[in-house]
Amino acid sequence: MGDNGDFAINEPEPKSLLEFPLDFPTCGVCGSTRTVAATVGEEERQKGKMGKDTMVFMHQFNSIILDPTRVALSVPVLSSILDICAGCGTVRCVHAELSMGIPQLQKGRGR
Ligand SMILES: [Zn+2]
Repeated sequence: MGDNGDFAINEPEPKSLLEFPLDFPTCGVCGSTRTVAATVGEEERQKGKMGKDTMVFMHQFNSIILDPTRVALSVPVLSSILDICAGCGTVRCVHAELSMGIPQLQKGRGR
């Protein structure tokens, strides 16, 4: 025991407040389950132009959860998939997932 300060690597991590992946199937504004890009993708799929498991969406954000003042071997990477509600036009998150990634060191490349 004792105070390990910033180096408490052997302590169990606190239980997560969120259970990933998160799915948001309905619009919080109008309640529609349709989104624009996913609907266009569904129509392309019905025409046989797109694979069954290909996910279609408007935009994806990847956010690295990183404290630049600390050294970390792996950090949480949050991926959020956004689409536009087909019912009311609201840009909304339809899916979010969390993975662990290795921070890229700023090393000289190609030397
Ligand atoms: Zn809506």
